[in-house]
Amino acid sequence: MSPIRGQARISIDGNPVVFRPRLTFGLLRATIALVLLLLIVVFWVKSFRHVVIVGFFTPAAHLQGLASDRRGLVLFFSDAQFGSERSLSVDAMTAASSELDEMRAYLLDDPTTVKWKFAGFRVSAGIIGTPNGRFELLLVPYWFVVGVCLASAAGPVRRRLVRWHRSRNNRCPECGYDLRASVDRCPECGLVTRIGPKPE
Ligand SMILES: [Zn+2]
Repeated sequence: MSPIRGQARISIDGNPVVFRPRLTFGLLRATIALVLLLLIVVFWVKSFRHVVIVGFFTPAAHLQGLASDRRGLVLFFSDAQFGSERSLSVDAMTAASSELDEMRAYLLDDPTTVKWKFAGFRVSAGIIGTPNGRFELLLVPYWFVVGVCLASAAGPVRRRLVRWHRSRNNRCPECGYDLRASVDRCPECGLVTRIGPKPE
């Protein structure tokens, strides 16, 4: 019998007994992934008209940022100075997407700044602000973020569905063994179960 992931296993009278934690890591991961997925889709749809920008200013007032551009999520790092009064602060703002065309052209399309691009991904670096500051930028396309969220959620959700389907058919949720003749636990894998014999 192979050990089953995410379960603590002890033995009573020589019989293995399996305790399942109610909130499994897989379920937690799937929940986080689905919440993120929902947020990303909202920002993606919104980004066609409005770009949401969250700026973080370091103790030296250097701007770092995260933005939902219509092309993808933008991670922005810089040592561009924005005055000492901006040190250690966070600022969120929304801008009309069309207002940022010039900035977008420089950051994402200018041959002097774009260092690498592939399948919607982009890395660029260059000079920004006055006095001259350096910036590095990573553009991650929405399709990739959505794909990662879906892939993270798919495994746990599929396992839940399989377990639910087996339980409904009086089978062990864990291994699929027929439990119609078993009351307390699965004779195959030792899973403690409340599924009893079918009423006569
Ligand atoms: Zn079983």
